[in-house]
Amino acid sequence: MQDYDVLIVGGGHAGAQTAVALRQRGYEGSVAIVCEEAAPPYERPPLSKEYLSGDRSADDILIRPPAFWAQAGIDLHTGRRAVAVEADARRVTLGDGATVGYRHLVWAAGGAPRRLTCAGHALAGVHSVRTREDVDRMRAELASVDRVVVIGGGYIGLEAAAALAKAGKRVTVVEALPRVLARVAGEILSRFYEAEHRAHGVEVRLDTAVECIEGSGGRAAGVRLHGGELLPCEMVIVGIGIVPAVRPLRDAGAGGDNGVDVDEHCRTDLPGVFAIGDCAAHVNRYAGGARVRLESVQNANDQAAVVAHALTGSPKPYDAVPWFWSFQYDLRLQTVGLSTGHDEVVVRGEVASRRFSLVYLKEGRIVALDCVNTVKDFAQGKALILRDDIPREVLADSSRPLKQAVPAAV
Ligand SMILES: Cc1cc2nc3c(=O)[nH]c(=O)nc-3n(C[C@H](O)[C@H](O)[C@H](O)COP(=O)(O)OP(=O)(O)OC[C@H]3O[C@@H](n4cnc5c(N)ncnc54)[C@H](O)[C@@H]3O)c2cc1C
Repeated sequence: MQDYDVLIVGGGHAGAQTAVALRQRGYEGSVAIVCEEAAPPYERPPLSKEYLSGDRSADDILIRPPAFWAQAGIDLHTGRRAVAVEADARRVTLGDGATVGYRHLVWAAGGAPRRLTCAGHALAGVHSVRTREDVDRMRAELASVDRVVVIGGGYIGLEAAAALAKAGKRVTVVEALPRVLARVAGEILSRFYEAEHRAHGVEVRLDTAVECIEGSGGRAAGVRLHGGELLPCEMVIVGIGIVPAVRPLRDAGAGGDNGVDVDEHCRTDLPGVFAIGDCAAHVNRYAGGARVRLESVQNANDQAAVVAHALTGSPKPYDAVPWFWSFQYDLRLQTVGLSTGHDEVVVRGEVASRRFSLVYLKEGRIVALDCVNTVKDFAQGKALILRDDIPREVLADSSRPLKQAVPAAV
């Protein structure tokens, strides 16, 4: 393989968008993406939503049409994995032993799904939801599946549960913590989604730990819980987070203990090496200045733009307001800001109406909004993040649009 001016490892949202943004900014050097997945870059969020339910096809979720990459002068090396980085020699080794030199390396390798370690974790019928191939495998089995156990009540687990419940499967969600979405949302939202899933026929088991997965003839046949109860099923979906895919960078000397640490321009401490997206830990003022690793399309795309700016001579530090979305049933959740560590919640609208927003505050400062079927609050609430001067009664009054209630802020 030839050497490149910019070599991008990973063809997910962050990697693909880096290449696109470089060309949009007029970058004329050689650019390549090396990605271990066989498919050209595609959107990941639909995997647990419309792609799982069959409402969108593989073509519908491509980030760009297949012909785009060659037309834009971006070499796409799919089905190839980067296994080692030599930072001083500016060279990457691929799984087949080939080496590729670079001037700038953009590490955008995302993460691998965290696996269970208990007995039965590798049985047929046990799935994670990270790649299109994962979901293709699941869909190929669905016709012979009646009962599904979803392990993990985070967004991906709940979205998969919603899609499969809508498809008529009998679904049980098993969550080790006392509430679903515990790591990413406040209690009110957790209880709301718990109730919604129950109303749609999903069994939700909280405070429940998995002992092992039991098999029959090499296939998963049930999930055994701590305490001995067996949940019989034909399919198990494991949604318990990701492990950042950074081993080659760490072996090359890059710092970080949760992914790879980057500065405000997404530079690692290796010369010429950037890291972006799910695998990059950065200091974020919306997290109170803490170093965080965000797993969202917003973060992947905005960090890609930061790298494209840095490589085209107009550096622009990363300072984007985090946002995220989730679709379950007919509920469109949009989140802006980071609610971690909040100490107060203002409810805007009636939770029972299934159209409401939650405004999270920390020490009197608005840190996040969770907006359920309230698109306007999401759009207008962005400008409120980090404000500490908005009266609570104004936030709570859903009859007044946020932009009217707070003219100075929007
Ligand atoms: C099912 C699901 C639903 C989601 N829903 C939402 C949502 O609704 N909203 C939202 O904002 N975010 C959502 N996310 C998160 C979002 O998709 C991720 O934050 C985003 O994809 C991160 O982009 P990335 O480029 O950093 O990583 P990825 O998209 O994971 O891309 C990394 C790529 O690098 C490849 N790779 C890894 N290691 C190597 C290697 N050594 N060599 C070569 N290639 C390698 C991987 O195979 C992968 O193709 C969802 C994620 C999943 C899995």
